[in-house]
Amino acid sequence: MRIVLKYGGTSVGSLEKIQKIASYIKELKNSFNEIVVVVSAMGKMTDELLNKASFFTKEPNKREIDMLLSIGEQQSIALLSIALNSIGCEAISYTGTQVGIETFGDHGDSQIKNIDIEKIESKLKEQKIVVVAGFQGVNSVGDITTLGRGGSDTTAVALAGRLGCQCRIYTDVDGVYTEDPKKNRLAKKIGKISYDEMEKMSASGAKVMELRSVKIGKEYKVPIFIGESLGNEDGTYIVD
Ligand code: ASP
Ligand code: MG
Repeated sequence: MRIVLKYGGTSVGSLEKIQKIASYIKELKNSFNEIVVVVSAMGKMTDELLNKASFFTKEPNKREIDMLLSIGEQQSIALLSIALNSIGCEAISYTGTQVGIETFGDHGDSQIKNIDIEKIESKLKEQKIVVVAGFQGVNSVGDITTLGRGGSDTTAVALAGRLGCQCRIYTDVDGVYTEDPKKNRLAKKIGKISYDEMEKMSASGAKVMELRSVKIGKEYKVPIFIGESLGNEDGTYIVD
């Protein structure tokens, strides 16, 4: 069985957390023989990188911002792969460019056009865990692009769509709620939600899943699960 897992910035926010994720993935290998992991930049790294650029100018060149921001996810994939390999779980990391995540559109707001999944498929056959950088791709002139803030969700769902498998998004909330649980303590968790409903929620500003990723999930009928890190099955399923 095949699965795509996605870990957001909070979930990979420290080396200890990355280590825990690695142990969890090792265990999951008993149930899924083919695992692809998509990760975001650690914690607030993307914001910190943006701050660095603003030291020089209020309007930094967008191509260079994409170049800069892409290192956040690149750090995460390398660290997670090192952690996995160190516990005897063979893993290999790839940037968006390396796995041919071709994009079109503007820097900082690019959209995925195609993913060349051959490389991923061949590594999965070798029983390796494939760790892919979220949020980034490469455009027709070979420049690094990014997909817009929160874009790692899109990478994960698009990959699951292309690989024909389910996608599990692990984040800092344990599912989708009727309202923002941080603002309203009476908000209730939703066990199952349709793509259309989820799309409405994301469009109206719910931060739990990025809007574009929900649309891609709907288009390719990707079964999506949203939950808290590390194997807690009690989250929200997005279904047809
Ligand atoms: N690191 C990027 C961001 O902070 C992408 C992501 O987290 O999905 O927006
Ligand atoms: Mg995020």
